[in-house]
Amino acid sequence: MNKLGKYFSLEELTVTHENLDNTPGPVQIQKLKELVKNILDPLREMIDEPIAVNSGFRTLAVNKAIGGAQKPISQHTKGEAADIECFDNAKLFQTIRDHFQFDQLIWEKGNDRQPDWVHVSLKSKGNRNQILKYKNGEYIQL
Ligand SMILES: [Zn+2]
Repeated sequence: MNKLGKYFSLEELTVTHENLDNTPGPVQIQKLKELVKNILDPLREMIDEPIAVNSGFRTLAVNKAIGGAQKPISQHTKGEAADIECFDNAKLFQTIRDHFQFDQLIWEKGNDRQPDWVHVSLKSKGNRNQILKYKNGEYIQL
C-alpha cells in the first residue's frame, strides 16, 4: 500500500481495467499527491464516508483504450484528475463546488438528481473553477 495522503493510495489512483501498464512518472505522482492533499483527503473528511476512485491517473494508452478525451488531452493523463463516487454523488459534487478550488468539476451522466460519478481536476496553477454538467448528450457549462 503506497499512500499518497491520509486516505488514498497510489494503487487506488492508478486503477484500470485495461490490460495495460498504468504506471505514472514522478511528475504525475506529484500531481496526484496535490490532488489528494488539496481535494480528496479533505473532501473525504467532510463527507465522512468512503469515496471510491473509478479512475485517476491514466497513461496515454489507457486513456485511448477507454475512449478518454483526446483534444484537449484528458487531465487524467497528467495525474490532475479523478473520477469519484460515494453513497451520494450529488452531495459529493455540491461539497466540492462549495468548498474547494478546482480546475474542472463535472456532473457525469446520470440524471438531474444524481450524477453517475463526479470528475474533478486540479492544476498546480491557473485553476479555472469550471463547472460542467452532462445533459441530453452534451456537456453544458453551469
Ligand atoms: Zn474523468
